[in-house]
Amino acid sequence: NLMSKSLYYSEFGDPLNVVKFREMEVPPLKSQEVLVRMLAAPVNPADINTIQGKYPVKIALPVIPGNEGVGVVEEVGSEVKNICAGNRVIVTEPMQGTWRDIGVFGKDVLRVVPDELGLVEAATLTVNPCTAYRMLTDFKNVRNGQVVIQNGANSACGQNVIQICKAWGIKNINIVRNRPEIKDLKRYLECLGATYVLTEEELRTTTLFKEKQIAKPILALNCVGGKSALEVVRYLEKTGVMVTYGAMSRDPVTIPNSALIFKDISFHGFWMTAWKEKASMDEKEKMMADIVSLMCEKKLVGPVHKMVKFEKYEEAVGNALSSKGFTGC
Ligand code: NDP
Repeated sequence: NLMSKSLYYSEFGDPLNVVKFREMEVPPLKSQEVLVRMLAAPVNPADINTIQGKYPVKIALPVIPGNEGVGVVEEVGSEVKNICAGNRVIVTEPMQGTWRDIGVFGKDVLRVVPDELGLVEAATLTVNPCTAYRMLTDFKNVRNGQVVIQNGANSACGQNVIQICKAWGIKNINIVRNRPEIKDLKRYLECLGATYVLTEEELRTTTLFKEKQIAKPILALNCVGGKSALEVVRYLEKTGVMVTYGAMSRDPVTIPNSALIFKDISFHGFWMTAWKEKASMDEKEKMMADIVSLMCEKKLVGPVHKMVKFEKYEEAVGNALSSKGFTGC
């Protein structure tokens, strides 16, 4: 009998306490199902928040965590077309439980990807690259040489924003928190395609716009909230848009009245899970195909990461709870 090793949790709480390891028999494959041996799955902030019970999705416990990942198909159900044993597949829908070594998934939550797609790129394709792609597409037409500004620019999502901007010819201003190794971080992000990288302190006093080195941005992507978002709003062009997708500082976004009255700045939120629920198959297909192409052309590489063996999951979860380092490219 085939056994599967998986992580699971049966109560919400601190991920290092509530996430447990178990081994279970794999149930028989139904006609519309696919048996997948997982190769890699990331730990995203949303995974952590879900385990903590702080993410707005309904789940019945116990549950296997993990919202995305890549694997290789071992066997397909009798009615599964277009997926074969040996195919490399990614899990495209959230909440399927990717933190396991082998599992049964419905055929509709899988997508076959080219073998030449990198492991890290494939494993992390559906959350951050898709979020970056949508935010650079759905709010303002920035593809004709316009300027985008983002905070949390070294986040996995921010690294995707930078690379997609480069590929699409969008100038991008990137705000990060200061740190002792800021030079290495700036160099790394510039290698990815950042037009400018500024610390939050540097943004406050920058002369980039006064000296007209670059036009004011018309789109701001907000990963952080709080003071960081407020500072970014100050530099937006009239009728610009701020899209909030993360709240890493946990502080609310404060909007100056003048930004609304005199500059007509508008504020939106973005949530990939909600987009997926309402998007058409065609829209999803185009986005996936574009991202896979960018990755195969090496224009979009996976985020800075540390690969951790499945059995050492506590290390992976612990790393996700703390910040990480950057080296030159
Ligand atoms: P990462 O773990 O890769 O990056 C986290 C980032 O947050 C780093 O840049 C880190 O900077 C920064 N950060 C952490 N704490 C603070 C703080 N107190 N103040 C300012 N910056 C801080 O995350 P991801 O790229 O995977 O995700 C980033 C955010 O985007 C998360 O909130 C995530 O939930 C959200 N997200 C939302 C999606 C949506 O659909 N709405 C989809 C994808 C992601 P530093 O190096 O300085 O610590």
